[in-house]
Amino acid sequence: MTDLGKFARLGIRTEADLLLHLPLRYEDETRIVAIADVAPGETAQVAGEVRSNEIVTRPRRMLQVELDDGSGRIGLRFLNFYGSQVAQLAVGRRLRAMGEVRGGLFGLEMVHPRYRMLGGADRLPATLTPVYPTVAGIGQSDLRRTILEALARTDWADTLRPGCAERLGLPALMPSLRLLHQPPPETPLSAIEDRTHPACRRLAFEELLAQQLSLKRARAARAGQRAVPLPDHAQTQRLLAALPFALTGAQTRAWHEISRDLAGSEPMNRLLQGDVGSGKTVVAALAAMQAIGSGRQAALMAPTEILAEQHFRKLGPWLEPLGVRVAWLSGSLTASAKKKVRALAAAGEVDLLVGTHALVEESVELPTLGLAIVDEQHRFGVAQRLALRATRGDALPHQLMMSATPIPRTLAMSYYADLDVSVIDELPPGRTPVITKLVTQSRHAEVVERVRAAVAQGRQVYWVCPLIEESETLDLQTAIDAFESLSAELADLRVGLIHGRLPVAEKAATMDAFVRGEIDLLVATTVIEVGVDVPNASLMVIEHAERFGLSQLHQLRGRVGRGSAQSVCVLLYRPPLSANARERLKTMYETTDGFEVARRDLLLRGPGEFLGARQSGLALLRFADLERDADLVDEARIEADAMLAGPPRRVDAHLARWLAGREEFLKA
Ligand code: ADP
Ligand code: MG
Repeated sequence: MTDLGKFARLGIRTEADLLLHLPLRYEDETRIVAIADVAPGETAQVAGEVRSNEIVTRPRRMLQVELDDGSGRIGLRFLNFYGSQVAQLAVGRRLRAMGEVRGGLFGLEMVHPRYRMLGGADRLPATLTPVYPTVAGIGQSDLRRTILEALARTDWADTLRPGCAERLGLPALMPSLRLLHQPPPETPLSAIEDRTHPACRRLAFEELLAQQLSLKRARAARAGQRAVPLPDHAQTQRLLAALPFALTGAQTRAWHEISRDLAGSEPMNRLLQGDVGSGKTVVAALAAMQAIGSGRQAALMAPTEILAEQHFRKLGPWLEPLGVRVAWLSGSLTASAKKKVRALAAAGEVDLLVGTHALVEESVELPTLGLAIVDEQHRFGVAQRLALRATRGDALPHQLMMSATPIPRTLAMSYYADLDVSVIDELPPGRTPVITKLVTQSRHAEVVERVRAAVAQGRQVYWVCPLIEESETLDLQTAIDAFESLSAELADLRVGLIHGRLPVAEKAATMDAFVRGEIDLLVATTVIEVGVDVPNASLMVIEHAERFGLSQLHQLRGRVGRGSAQSVCVLLYRPPLSANARERLKTMYETTDGFEVARRDLLLRGPGEFLGARQSGLALLRFADLERDADLVDEARIEADAMLAGPPRRVDAHLARWLAGREEFLKA
């Protein structure tokens, strides 16, 4: 058995992981090209005799070797080299060198080629040489040798049912793996690169099948688990009657689906989807009320302090008149305040606990937790979502997740096969769609005038500062700069500043002032991205909009257009735009429909990033692509059912090979 510890940073933990670590690309060392035939820009392998060997010191110290194969000469240049290399590459020695050919000052050359000294019986490799993804500190040749050795001693039994691969026109597993690690020279590499080669499709199918098996098993396991039924109706009726508005048809539908699940003894695992502003919060409040009315606790976790706090402020006035005890917990509370909240929660003296990820990080005990609600669920890592559900007493709590980022069908089917989905596809009445304007930065002054005009009409304005990914400090600085220059330009306006680094109390005070209309213009970093709700704000300016992601822009824009006044979102951008940025801004201009935005975002970013899999540190699908392999997704679902109906041994073997302990994460 190989020691795999050193490969842990590549995510390689098992022998199976090793075999499934596929090459990034290949190099052709099966052929030798005559030096006379190589051209700059191509990667080639040449063989010849050393004609000169010299250490030059201009422009810097380097080893300069000249290789001759009878057809021509090529320079080999080493900027870092050992003394032993100077001797090894002495005049008269023969070697093979592989590298990218460049047109140098004195003819063709290779910089730092890979080379191998030639002796007697030198055979060229029979297959292409794989180049694996790796990280600093893990050498390519070490990794390659380990993988190829593992491949040579492995003969995996097929875990698919007999006949399945044939039916789908897929090759057998081991030959597929061998082909991908060591392709014969004639293999069409383009088909491997774009992953349409049958060997790639075979792996994609295996992976999709593992995913479906795992999700379906998780679902079956959950159906077998018990939750405490939450049958209350009286309290939710009282809350409905007390609300200042009637639910929309879509809200009512979603609410009924949730309410029915909560009353059952099978743990609910439901995703509530609805565009920004569609009114998910009140549905969550009703769900919480049903849990509390049934004598249980509820928890609501939101991804940012501002959002969590806003939920707290909104839910308190709705629920407290009905005798509900609502509490608030975030990482920024003082230690003693946290301790107090934890004690109250543990004593059952809190009915609804609202907070940030502190809810799962501060080891809060909610002994009678009946319902865990996660807002903007895609912003959380999978582990955090699991942890909230695990904060429980005697039975598995029901779980309600909310998202303003609609998940397209193939994704939902694939990632969320274990979820039921409710959709709010209707905005509350009286909303006017937001008008989006694309304006270049050079017209900044006009935009400032527009702000002045909006405020003169009694409206409020958001000014969102550019996102600077590399540096939180810079991010903050740009917001402070914008605040200062806007305060100067609009001296007669009440200008506020809010960003993530402000102390909570100050953030809350600023947000409060904005809600009460005491601030006209709120300069903000993206902390206001999610959830914030101020209906009188009807203008939003987003600076450097080209730096934002599409879903993020849509979320930001959703902060306006919440009242009945015509709202405008100005996307300030600085040309020239990359093709991708242009596409994002164009989409924002063309549509306000969250589903359409999500669809295009998925196309631009691919499912991994879209779902935030990166963020949670987990590339869930390594081989399959839900768009490209959409046909296989359907087949995998069908095959998973057939396999689950058969002996569990086969399913276990397949999951062990493909998921190797990663199953937990798929269940969230
Ligand atoms: P989101 O789905 O983005 O979380 P919110 O729950 O914050 O949206 O709701 C947006 C706004 O719409 C809030 O001010 C909320 O009180 C209001 N609202 C929700 N449902 C209705 C309704 N049925 N009629 C009128 N206003 C509503
Ligand atoms: Mg919300």
